[in-house]
Amino acid sequence: PPDVEVLGRSTWVFLHTTAAYYPDKPSPTQRANMLNLLHALPVLYPCSHCASHLGEEMQVYPPDVSGRIPLSRWLCERHNEVNERLGKEKFDCAKTDERWKDGPSD
Ligand code: FAD
Repeated sequence: PPDVEVLGRSTWVFLHTTAAYYPDKPSPTQRANMLNLLHALPVLYPCSHCASHLGEEMQVYPPDVSGRIPLSRWLCERHNEVNERLGKEKFDCAKTDERWKDGPSD
């Protein structure tokens, strides 16, 4: 089975970076594709318990794909829910651009 930590770290890099560079005013096609990408995760993400937790979260908190800022915040909040569940520190969602767009990355 995949290493859940390595998989998680790389998936978060991809998702947060993609959200950080998502348009402020996405076209209908961009919105639809972002929704498809996010809705695919609970179906395809190769950590089944992670996938089902995310699916439940997404039913309560549907993704906001209306623009870069709301999408980045939505994703940050979903990531924080995982952080909380795993006993990790919560991330300050005011700092997503600093971490994933403007600032240095690791
Ligand atoms: P990660 O949590 O992978 O974070 C990577 C980097 O992202 C951090 O160093 C930090 O700079 C930044 N960051 C942290 N929090 C935020 C935030 N809220 N917003 C923006 N940036 C942030 N693991 C499980 O054991 N059980 C699960 O149920 C589970 N569900 C997951 C669901 C999804 C959709 C994903 C993508 C991963 C899931 N994981 C799960 C993996 C878990 O979230 C971590 O990726 C893994 O434990 C490695 O953690 P890490 O401490 O290296 O940092």
